[in-house]
Amino acid sequence: METAWDDQLRTAGLRVTRPRLSVLGVLAEHPHVDADTIATAARAVHPSISPQAVYGVLKALTGAGLARRIEPAGGPALYELRVGDNHHHLVCRGCGTVADVDCVVGQAPCLTPSDAAGFAVDEAEVVFWGLCADCQVRRSQHGYGSNTAIGEGVGA
Ligand SMILES: [Zn+2]
Ligand SMILES: [Zn+2]
Ligand SMILES: [Zn+2]
Repeated sequence: METAWDDQLRTAGLRVTRPRLSVLGVLAEHPHVDADTIATAARAVHPSISPQAVYGVLKALTGAGLARRIEPAGGPALYELRVGDNHHHLVCRGCGTVADVDCVVGQAPCLTPSDAAGFAVDEAEVVFWGLCADCQVRRSQHGYGSNTAIGEGVGA
């Protein structure tokens, strides 16, 4: 992953600050994480960075196009550095794991409405929901019903 964040920030018209560099570093290692997780990780390295600063940074980064914000239904907004392509996401209903999936069309909007009703459509929100490989194994091993919480032990 890129480490020349200074250049990327300047190119995007943003000043280079420690909170911005910290958040970019966290996102480079942990794509698809929520603001609280980013704040915790950034503060583990630089305790002087306030959660408010992290939220401000996320806003600036997404506004400048350096980060992308996705909002799978029923969960907090997630952030990632993979921008500039129209990729989609697979989201696990069991543990919330998110995986990238390339768009087969490649650019937004990759779906055409049957009737656009006069709208100039520029985006289609595509999220694929299902059970990740780990959750499928867990479910078959334990015979959980579909409503049983099986989120324990989430993580790498
Ligand atoms: Zn899962
Ligand atoms: Zn992604
Ligand atoms: Zn697509």
